[in-house]
Amino acid sequence: MAKVLGPPPVRLCKALGCRKPVHENDRCLLHRQIEREEYAAREAERAATVALAEGDKTIRHCTVRSCDRPSHARGLCLAHYERFRRHQSLTTPIRGWGQPTTSP
Ligand SMILES: [Zn+2]
Ligand SMILES: [Zn+2]
Repeated sequence: MAKVLGPPPVRLCKALGCRKPVHENDRCLLHRQIEREEYAAREAERAATVALAEGDKTIRHCTVRSCDRPSHARGLCLAHYERFRRHQSLTTPIRGWGQPTTSP
């Protein structure tokens, strides 16, 4: 530990327009807190992206756009696969999902 002779020079926060003294890592207490929160948010986002990328390897999803259900067969989810079998439109939104439809 080096002894500091005299008062240490006051460093100011590196954040734009901030003149508060440095608390940690060239940031004042407030901006350090913001930096931490931004870092945590970035980390959470990164973790979610990684989880999503890893999930894609194991769980395949329905190939229909805007559908995020897991793939059941032929790259389609159960609802879309049923539609495919019945030659129904795959692009119209799924309604009454979970309710069995009786075909004539
Ligand atoms: Zn600041
Ligand atoms: Zn689907």
